[in-house]
Amino acid sequence: MKKPKFEYLPTTREEMKERGWNKLDVILVTGDAYIDSPYIGVAVVGRMLEKLGFKVGIIGQPDIKNDEDIKRLGEPKLYWGVSGGSIDSMVANYTATKKFRNSDDYTPGGKNTKRPDRAVNVYTNLIRKNFKGTVPIVLGGIEASLRRITHYDYWTNKLKKPILFDSKADLLIYGMGEVAIEELSVALRDKKDFKDIRGVCYISKEPVLEHIQLPSHAECLADKEKYIDMFDAFYDNNDPISAKGLCEPVDARYLIQNAPCDYLNEQEMDALSDLPFTRELHPYHRHEGKVRCLETIKFSINTHQGCWGECNFCAIGVHQGRTIRTRSEESILKEVKKFTEYKDFKGIISDVGGPTANMYGYECKKKLKHGTCAHQRCVDANHLCSSMKINHKRNIDLLRKVRATKGVKKAFVASGIRYDFITEDKEYGYEYLKELVKHHISGQMKVAPEHTQQHVLDLMGKPGKQTLVDFKHMYDKLNKEEGKKQFLTYYLIAAHPGCEEKDMHELKRFTTEELEMNPEQAQVFTPTPSTYSAVMYYTEMDPVTRKKIFVEKDIHKKEKQKAIVVKKERIERNNFAG
Ligand code: SF4
Repeated sequence: MKKPKFEYLPTTREEMKERGWNKLDVILVTGDAYIDSPYIGVAVVGRMLEKLGFKVGIIGQPDIKNDEDIKRLGEPKLYWGVSGGSIDSMVANYTATKKFRNSDDYTPGGKNTKRPDRAVNVYTNLIRKNFKGTVPIVLGGIEASLRRITHYDYWTNKLKKPILFDSKADLLIYGMGEVAIEELSVALRDKKDFKDIRGVCYISKEPVLEHIQLPSHAECLADKEKYIDMFDAFYDNNDPISAKGLCEPVDARYLIQNAPCDYLNEQEMDALSDLPFTRELHPYHRHEGKVRCLETIKFSINTHQGCWGECNFCAIGVHQGRTIRTRSEESILKEVKKFTEYKDFKGIISDVGGPTANMYGYECKKKLKHGTCAHQRCVDANHLCSSMKINHKRNIDLLRKVRATKGVKKAFVASGIRYDFITEDKEYGYEYLKELVKHHISGQMKVAPEHTQQHVLDLMGKPGKQTLVDFKHMYDKLNKEEGKKQFLTYYLIAAHPGCEEKDMHELKRFTTEELEMNPEQAQVFTPTPSTYSAVMYYTEMDPVTRKKIFVEKDIHKKEKQKAIVVKKERIERNNFAG
């Protein structure tokens, strides 16, 4: 494979000089090390801006105790881009029971020593301290995106103001934001106003009257139902076709959220994937060790963006959007072929997937034309909208071509799969599962029912247990037919709002007696910002009915809920023979 003259975006003055650059247009600061991968948001933004002709540098995990580190690339001409990294820094640093996490998959060496709590605020302050009156500071990435309006913060157990108010940054780009980033960069370069750019949030002294007027931050603090009203409006106005802008009074000012920027079309998705990522850790960081995330993402393929599953504990739909944007088959196969040119590629593709692997290749036609429906879900615990025609055909064709590529020995599908879509797709569901069982898993398949008690599943937005049982029968039958001894493993959540100890006992009974297994993958629920489950956790109400629900808040009792389900039981029956 022919190497380009400059393999990476610069991280030091010396690297800038090699390119003949004295000053950068944009400096990106992130809570991760600089990992040059299409799976890492800051690398994608950097590569995209580079292609557009901007001079970009990256400071990964700046040393916050040494002012020289943030100064090492000088001051940018246009703006600073600040991200907490691939994961919200509080989620990255603490477990659901608020214990400090010792490891970090995005930090060289794997020890969690480089990512400050509330990284976005810390980095913004660091820049302000060292560059008085500097160019705009623009926030982006998951931490900023999901904290862009009043939100529940589990770690302080409070409603927090929109992050622009706490961080003292100038602007925020939310969601995936590729189009907004390009438009903002051009506007700042051409010294044009950026207040009308879609996908941008900013603070204003005046309200924007054409936008939806949200309850104020003070009203949300005083009245939990007002907070639910605000979150409903926020959640429903998240689609580039149908959403309106939002205006939230905060103290004597306003948080303005413009309507979302457009999604990328297939051609643009392909172009993004075609950027010259090295898929490696930048050499600047290598003396500190490897980053663990590359073990899974280095030779993985992201087939699409977005998720319409709307699990209430997950923020992907809010961050990436609820419309699937798919890459073309040609682009994906080109990427597979590129893998075979890497010296360290052993023929194994770790994942061919996306936020939900089996959403590739089809969408609701009404959604594509009019945007997501405001008061209706494409799928919830009990019902799939009749306009969503699930069809695994394109996904099957893709997987066949991926594994037929010369040099590929095995292509795993490791991303989450909605098993209820498989049973729903009467035409191709069985064939798709057969492909997975025969070729794309090894020994076990992971599925995520999360619970089995209907009232908990309803609050989670997950399908009922009968679908799981039907799927298990299909899976066991296929394994028997193929002569394989492969298992199902289940992701389960303890202490989700609505879940009591007795529900965990029933879940345990069900897994032992009906699924014939001992769950190992149970996790305690974390109320992450801007999810409906976090709204439930804070308000102790069902956001739809507004009725009171039980919420376990005692950390020891949460751990006890988990312990109930992971306790080993003797299983008498054969686990895979059906
Ligand atoms: S019509 Fe149904 S599937 Fe389509 S966007 Fe609306 S709820 Fe979703």
